[in-house]
Amino acid sequence: MKTDLMFDYVVLGGGIVGVSTALSLITKHPDKRILLVEKEESFAQHQTGHNSGVIHAGVYYEPGSLKAKFCREGLTETIKFCLLHKIPYQQCGKLLVATNDTELKRMKELYERCKSNDIEVEILNEKTLNEIEPNISGIGALLVKSTGIVNYKLITKKMLEQFESLGGMFLLNTKIINLKEDEDKIQIITSNETFSSRYLVCCAGLMADRIAKLLKIKINFQIVPFRGEYFKLPEKHNNLVKHLIYPIPDPTLPFLGVHLTKMIDGSITVGPNAVLGFKREGYSQFNFSLKDTLQLLSFKGFHKVLMRNFKSGLYEMKNSIFKRGYLKEVQKYSPSVKLNDLQPYPAGIRAQAVLDDGTLVHDFLFAESRRSIHVCNAPSPAATSAIPIGKYITDKATEAYNKLT
Ligand SMILES: Cc1cc2nc3c(=O)[nH]c(=O)nc-3n(C[C@H](O)[C@H](O)[C@H](O)COP(=O)(O)OP(=O)(O)OC[C@H]3O[C@@H](n4cnc5c(N)ncnc54)[C@H](O)[C@@H]3O)c2cc1C
Repeated sequence: MKTDLMFDYVVLGGGIVGVSTALSLITKHPDKRILLVEKEESFAQHQTGHNSGVIHAGVYYEPGSLKAKFCREGLTETIKFCLLHKIPYQQCGKLLVATNDTELKRMKELYERCKSNDIEVEILNEKTLNEIEPNISGIGALLVKSTGIVNYKLITKKMLEQFESLGGMFLLNTKIINLKEDEDKIQIITSNETFSSRYLVCCAGLMADRIAKLLKIKINFQIVPFRGEYFKLPEKHNNLVKHLIYPIPDPTLPFLGVHLTKMIDGSITVGPNAVLGFKREGYSQFNFSLKDTLQLLSFKGFHKVLMRNFKSGLYEMKNSIFKRGYLKEVQKYSPSVKLNDLQPYPAGIRAQAVLDDGTLVHDFLFAESRRSIHVCNAPSPAATSAIPIGKYITDKATEAYNKLT
């Protein structure tokens, strides 16, 4: 594609959040020049292409939070998008299984949270759970029927086709390496060429903090990469469960625990765990980046996270190295899964924003300069929520653009 020098809006990042935002922008402003820039050779190569593929219903999220709102809207919008574009999805429902008294208590709290978030939910006792899922054992469960599964890469691809058909432009293999905000524009310096835009939207995932810093935006967080390692069950187990099977999560941790996920291709994955990553965009177990690791070690927020979560961190690390520990997590609710059932499957890496004081940011987080908006924290369920997030950013960007020009 040949780019002219000035755009109205440039969107950085070809994950589902960036592509959804680009589509929303061009839909609202068909007369504007809008460019999407991605550093990889194709779209959805990072978090969007390495996730569980769950369309979340919004069970866990703090009532009134952006996550609770966007997840609920996102479920409806995602299914609407799939129906419109004939993308396969399935609302198979999800079970959150309690295996001891502590979990049973937490399960009841989660039931109340579902009610506050207006999510249809049923409580199952041991007998009913066993009737609907004979291969799952627990002393109780929550059933959320609206939870679904999909391939987010396919959704991103379709969104991109729509964006292009409405006149949007995109560049692949183009890394944004510097940004300069002037009175009347933002200069965008890339690995290939330099251009300008009236307004910039950054959806950089694992690089969100670094991109915000290029514009000297004062931020009080850093991205900490948490690897999510998966296994895949052998094909003979494809009918092991009818629902997605989740443990009852520990409310002090931001991750959901190792679950059994039915994938849209019919297979079942196990995972993800949550271990510290030593390379932001490195997917194999022993990937290491000196730059990423030094930045992590020099971040005071990370030291605080480490101190607060030392025990659980070590436990996760141990289970990452020794498959037997990982297996124990699964066998808590699915005793028929055996060690040799855990077959290799690609890992994902979560971009988790951590504040300087060591708080793990739970909600979606944004930062702005005069001519830019940055998605600073978009962990799960941001794939589910990508359509409402895109519309939210579009409204913010449009308001800022109109004030400036
Ligand atoms: C293990 C795991 C499981 C998950 N499971 C689910 C789930 O089941 N359901 C759900 O709703 N969510 C899930 N999520 C969360 C979801 O996948 C992410 O929240 C979502 O994909 C974030 O999309 P994104 O566009 O913000 O980021 P990304 O997909 O990471 O995209 C960011 C893009 O920015 C590009 N970029 C960065 N820097 C530059 C630069 N300088 N120049 C140009 N381009 C750049 C990157 O190359 C990348 O393509 C999961 C995430 C993980 C990691």
